[in-house]
Amino acid sequence: MDDDSQRAGTEPIVVALGGNTLLGSQGHWTFDEQREAVARTARQLADAIHAGYDVVLTHGNGPQVGTLLLQQDNVEEPARRPLDVLVAETQAQIGYLVQQALDNELPDSTDSVTVVTQVVVDPDDPAFETPTKPVGPFYTEAQAAERAFETRRVRSGDRPYRRVVPSPEPIEVVEDEEITSLVERGTLVVAAGGGGVPVVRDGTLRGVEAVVDKDKTSQVLAAELGAETLVVLTDVEFAYVGYETADERPLRRVSPAAVRGHLEAGEFGEGSMRPKMEACCRFVERGGERAVVTTPDRLLEALAGETGTQVRA
Ligand code: ADP
Ligand code: MG
Repeated sequence: MDDDSQRAGTEPIVVALGGNTLLGSQGHWTFDEQREAVARTARQLADAIHAGYDVVLTHGNGPQVGTLLLQQDNVEEPARRPLDVLVAETQAQIGYLVQQALDNELPDSTDSVTVVTQVVVDPDDPAFETPTKPVGPFYTEAQAAERAFETRRVRSGDRPYRRVVPSPEPIEVVEDEEITSLVERGTLVVAAGGGGVPVVRDGTLRGVEAVVDKDKTSQVLAAELGAETLVVLTDVEFAYVGYETADERPLRRVSPAAVRGHLEAGEFGEGSMRPKMEACCRFVERGGERAVVTTPDRLLEALAGETGTQVRA
């Protein structure tokens, strides 16, 4: 109503891309199908860019980093790459696909650049003791029991298990100033892919074996950039209360305090909607104007305040 359709392009917006925006929703992961999914997402992003928004993109990497991790089992010890290096590889892999798709959609005057991004975590984060972040393929109960790595039941159905790795809280994005200067030049930046490469700061920077939640890192980055809006794009148009029950109700305009209540009531799926709503809540609580959850095809409408779950003070 009021200032939803206001001046675009003055402060960046951070747009987090979920798995379905990169892989398609059918679980088809051939590279042709991935290219198609990314091309579709790039078209939807281009509409927002044409509308004048300065966009910083982030993305997840669960399937991709899980595949790379499995491939390490066939690598002899001296050449085996640690998980932080694998996260960096997924930033290149996905950044390449997104950058190329954007190059094909956008006017010549808009450059897009992927920044290999490190994110500082606490070496004493309890998450290192209890892996929770699901990566890679899904397994049956029997398959999961045979795996040499830790798995966890993450959904219902006949392949409910997935490998889990530690997922510490992101504290600070190392390359935030570099990203800011790129945005100020009018460059479309892809950053903090896969939640960022986790590093600890103990005099020097050192990579650690973990995968940070991309929604949480997107919030940290959005705050550091002074972004006006954090958008989390996924495969549902809204976050719901009573999700998948007879009383399911979409959240439309909602305050951070109300979201806190729903978080406490356990309304949002662990590892799926919960980190998104936590990120949105935190962004607005710490002074961000608004945070939005919606699907890529609703992006423009959601930016105009017309759909999606809109968290604002
Ligand atoms: P992405 O890969 O895009 O980051 P996720 O699959 O992790 O997305 O999270 C989106 C999913 O969260 C939805 O597909 C939905 O199944 C699930 N979900 C869990 N709780 C809720 C809820 N309360 N409202 C909406 N979706 C929910
Ligand atoms: Mg997903």
